[in-house]
Amino acid sequence: MNQIKKTSNDTIPLFAGTAILKKFTADEALFNSFSNIAIIVDNNTFDYCLPTLLNILPKLSEANIIKVSVGELNKNINTAVEIWKRLSEINIDRNSLIINLGGGVITDMGGFAAATFKRGIPFINIPTTLLAMADASIGGKTGIDLLNYKNQIGLFASPKAIIIDTIFLSTLSREQLMNGVAEIIKHSLIADKILWKNLRKTIFDSNTNWEELINKNIKIKSKIVKNDPFEKGVRKLLNFGHTIGHAIESYSMTYGNRRLMHGEAIVIGMICETYLSVQMNKVDLFQANEICSYLFLNFKSYPFPKKDIYEIVEIMKQDKKNKDGLINFTLLRDIGEATYNNYIDIRLIKKSLEYYLQYA
Ligand code: NAD
Repeated sequence: MNQIKKTSNDTIPLFAGTAILKKFTADEALFNSFSNIAIIVDNNTFDYCLPTLLNILPKLSEANIIKVSVGELNKNINTAVEIWKRLSEINIDRNSLIINLGGGVITDMGGFAAATFKRGIPFINIPTTLLAMADASIGGKTGIDLLNYKNQIGLFASPKAIIIDTIFLSTLSREQLMNGVAEIIKHSLIADKILWKNLRKTIFDSNTNWEELINKNIKIKSKIVKNDPFEKGVRKLLNFGHTIGHAIESYSMTYGNRRLMHGEAIVIGMICETYLSVQMNKVDLFQANEICSYLFLNFKSYPFPKKDIYEIVEIMKQDKKNKDGLINFTLLRDIGEATYNNYIDIRLIKKSLEYYLQYA
């Protein structure tokens, strides 16, 4: 077979490109040495992505399909138990392979189920959303939510390989694409000022060069994760927008009038945390306005009753990054540069949410 080009120099093989899956047809070594294969999908990836995968790699037609209910609300222990039970029924063992075919919910939860079943079954991530291609499928964080708190149960577990094929993007709605653009914006704000400048000029539509954009983001995330795989230090930079973002995502699952997509919640988080960056890191106001007005303009706003700020901050108190009851933030220092381990007073956090509401 032609040598398949790895996108990054990581120890975990990562293959990315348009129609990259086709390159595995001549030699399916990656999929061949297993006694048994299970493919985890949700309702949508069962309909939209599985036929494409099986068409390109017909040998996988023999695999067992595990279909779970769609969405963040199902990223929980009940679904994990369902997956474990099915893995048991179909006799998955440590010589087997699990393929996670889906967005970030499937790569997070499928990775978690694989890494915990029989102390760990090898798994491959084949992400099918822009968000999962540019972010979630990379870096080995796996997990599920508990009581609607995000990713409370989980572990670091590396996939055997990651295969990112842009072929799957064609069935995503514009909203779903923008959901992924949110994490791409985050990568630019913490690590790549030139990327930010380019994003501001980009019109996201069918002519967008997604492959180039995804490759840039793979490089940013892989480099950070390689330097700090278990999030002891520099990997915390990736949490920009996520302390408030995760809390508001959880809030929208329980109280809100509309359930937010992950990326949408991170956009709100980035607006509030840019406000906090001005207060704490003296980020230039002109730059902060540039970021916030871009985000307000390009993403749907999410007004919520001011009194609910209390609930959102209560949820934030469950954030995994907190220490001694203090809420931990990653903040910008400049566009393309960020700092981690900023502990912020609750009054200021509330003000950042009030700032968001003023313009939402
Ligand atoms: P998702 O997996 O729920 O996918 C979004 C929607 O798109 C779902 O309805 C799904 O069925 C559908 N879908 C998937 N692929 C499709 C396709 N090709 N065509 C049509 N529909 C398709 O959500 P997501 O936005 O991909 O990921 C969000 C999750 O990722 C969150 O749980 C978040 O916490 C997690 N995440 C994890 C990391 C990490 O490092 N592990 C990083 C960022 C986000």
